[in-house]
Amino acid sequence: MSGDRHDQYTVHVKVEDTPPCPQCDGSTALLVQFPHNWKNGRDEDVSGFREAVLCPGCHHKEPAAAELLALFAVDDQLSLENVDTFGGLVAAWAESVRQRTVDEEALTAEFELWKRGEL
Ligand SMILES: [Zn+2]
Repeated sequence: MSGDRHDQYTVHVKVEDTPPCPQCDGSTALLVQFPHNWKNGRDEDVSGFREAVLCPGCHHKEPAAAELLALFAVDDQLSLENVDTFGGLVAAWAESVRQRTVDEEALTAEFELWKRGEL
């Protein structure tokens, strides 16, 4: 995290031909792709993208995902009337995925430090 960037990032959303869920192999409701920055092993900033799928079977217990899935349950098709709601829910869910991703990387870093005997 550089800490000096406060601009909005763009989340790309795909609702058709989404890949199967990596956890249960079931069909997914949508795919999001968002910018993701991290530090590599030499402590250099790397910029790239992360993708995440929304799976009805695996993610319905997460609050942000549940709200999004509820919208899909009501509206099979996205329309002009619900696209604003949809966009807000997708953004909230993508942010929750982003936070979780960062947490997992922090855990990995701690584990690696521990393996090297630095903790
Ligand atoms: Zn799944």
